Amino acid sequence: MDEITSCPNCGDIFVKNKFRDVCQKCWKAEEEAYEKVYKFIRKRENRAATMQQVVDATEVEEELILKFIKKGRLQTAQFPNLGYPCDKCGKVIQTGKLCAGCAEELRKELEAHTAQVEWKKEIEERSKNNTYFAVDEKYRGRND
Ligand SMILES: [Zn+2]
Ligand SMILES: [Zn+2]
Repeated sequence: MDEITSCPNCGDIFVKNKFRDVCQKCWKAEEEAYEKVYKFIRKRENRAATMQQVVDATEVEEELILKFIKKGRLQTAQFPNLGYPCDKCGKVIQTGKLCAGCAEELRKELEAHTAQVEWKKEIEERSKNNTYFAVDEKYRGRND
C-alpha cells in the first residue's frame, strides 16, 4: 500500500510503495549507482570481484550494493564474491542474515529451546487435561 513518508536518505517527503522506498531524487541516484555497479561487475574479468573491489572501482557505497543484492537485483550466483558478512562470523553470504554454518547452529539452539518450551507446555497441558478428564469422568458417571 502507498504511504507518505520521509526519504530515509535525504528526508524529503515522498510516496512510498513496494517498488520505491526512497524519494524520486534518491531513486534516480540509486538507479545510476546500480547501472555503474552492474556495468562493472558484468565484465568477465570483474565477475569474481570482492565487495571492496567493486566499491573502489564504482565509488558506490557498500550499503547500497548490499541493498541491490538483498533485493535480488544483483544476482550473486553470477558474482560469487559479492555478498555481505554473516551476522555472526563475518563470512561472505548472499541470502539471509547468517551463513549456512551459523544458521544450522542457530537452528539447533532454537530446537533445543523449543523442545524445552514444548516440554513445559506439555506438563502444563497434562495437568489441565487431567482436571478436564476428572470432570468428564464424573459427568459420565452421573449419566450411566
Ligand atoms: Zn531522498
Ligand atoms: Zn556465519
